Amino acid sequence: MAAIKQDDVIDSVADAFQYISYYHPKDYIDALALAYEREESPAARDAIAQILTNSKMSAQGRRPVCQDTGLAVVFVKLGMDVEWSGAKMALSDMIHEGVRRAYMHPDNTLRASVVQDPTNTRLNTKDNTPAIIHYDVVPGNKIEITVAAKGGGSENKAKFTTLMPSDSLADWIVDVVPAMGAGWCPPGMLGIGVGGTAEKAMILAKESLMESIDMQTLKVKGPQNKIEELRVEIYDRVNALGIGAQGLGGLTTVLDVKIKDYPTHAASLPVAVIPNCAATRHAHFVLDGSGPVALTPPSPDDYPAIEWRASDDARRVDLNSVTAEEVSNWKPGETLLLNGKLLTGRDAAHKRIKDLLASGEGLPEGVNFEGRFIYYVGPVDPVGDEVVGPAGPTTSTRMDKFTDMMLSETGLLGMVGKAERGPVAIEAIKKHKAVYLMAVGGAAYLVSKAIQSSRVVAFAELGMEAIYEFDVRDMPVTVAVDSCGESVHQTGPKLWKSKIAQIPVVSA
Ligand code: SF4
Repeated sequence: MAAIKQDDVIDSVADAFQYISYYHPKDYIDALALAYEREESPAARDAIAQILTNSKMSAQGRRPVCQDTGLAVVFVKLGMDVEWSGAKMALSDMIHEGVRRAYMHPDNTLRASVVQDPTNTRLNTKDNTPAIIHYDVVPGNKIEITVAAKGGGSENKAKFTTLMPSDSLADWIVDVVPAMGAGWCPPGMLGIGVGGTAEKAMILAKESLMESIDMQTLKVKGPQNKIEELRVEIYDRVNALGIGAQGLGGLTTVLDVKIKDYPTHAASLPVAVIPNCAATRHAHFVLDGSGPVALTPPSPDDYPAIEWRASDDARRVDLNSVTAEEVSNWKPGETLLLNGKLLTGRDAAHKRIKDLLASGEGLPEGVNFEGRFIYYVGPVDPVGDEVVGPAGPTTSTRMDKFTDMMLSETGLLGMVGKAERGPVAIEAIKKHKAVYLMAVGGAAYLVSKAIQSSRVVAFAELGMEAIYEFDVRDMPVTVAVDSCGESVHQTGPKLWKSKIAQIPVVSA
């Protein structure tokens, strides 16, 4: 067996993170294409079509499927007899270096999303390091590496509990999934870790998400053991909730449910669940001393022949002249195509705006929200002749606590983001006769093609969190909370839950 070189690890990790930024795993594409065929909810079907179209565009353009290019998670199985050829760096440092090179690649620069000093300054580390690395030391002379790029929207929805040994795990999952909202960009997977201790259950849940989607095969052959029975039960019960793609209501919320278990204390039943989103990204490779690993790109035939197009009855909106009166006519669930100028802002910009207004300083020169819309987004930097990199919406609930302030103190007319709004934001929207529009999370490259120009107008030092002004053409969005406060994330799942209860759910 040949010795493994330091550069083999670095190059392979860098290549793998580049690869997963623009290639979905084939099993995910297949499962999503099947969900598209089966979907009966028009809104959910449209969202899935956008995600599939975006996936194919990303593969062709070799640009990220999502603007959140993720936190680097790496599972390493290190052979006890591995020999190194002149390695000077620790293995973890090789992995961090691979991540650094992947995220700063000039041809496909990925978004650096990692901040240090998380409770205080939250300064961006600028190269997406450090990675989160999990080791297992195993017999043999190879290194098996699995890399994943985990988006914040889905990671934020992770849940943990310690059940009584006699409690139903499935009941707990079915209770917590609706509480996750749609910020995890369903349809995706649920990874469940059971047993061990609190931290072991969490790692098992994450590791289970590295497995291929095979629920349809499992349903055809039938469960062969208790864990497989539980997987099928949870899959069916969660989909019967009617949450649907992007939380709009529909038949498919999860494409698969994975479970990994481990022995635990007689008094305990620790359970962790972590969702994986529309940007399911992971790859696996083995280093055996024969050089760096090059992953095989998918074939164009791996993608279904689905091309998303805006429906003919979509309403075109001129953002440069839109009025509150027009906004009040928009109906929940209606598709709009936005045209004109859109300001952006997310967590850090909202905090700055709040502090500036509270101090009496006012907004920075050139920032005027009067009669405008804000888009919650942190885009990827452009490469080549792009005006902006992938620029899909971020989870709107994080901006809920700023919504009343923005609507009452800046003259803002509406917001664009992803997933549901909470009660505080909905109340503010209703009070100010504003509106909340939803773009599809996980369709970031497709959305970016609607952006004709982009310029930073304030807070440039915040990087992707700066305030930009986009000029958009036919950017597709759905009216998610209308000016009367009706939310499609409440009405959609309710409707589809009752429809599903009345129709026989066909297995596989
Ligand atoms: S698909 Fe949604 S949850 Fe996943 S990384 Fe993108 S924005 Fe985040």
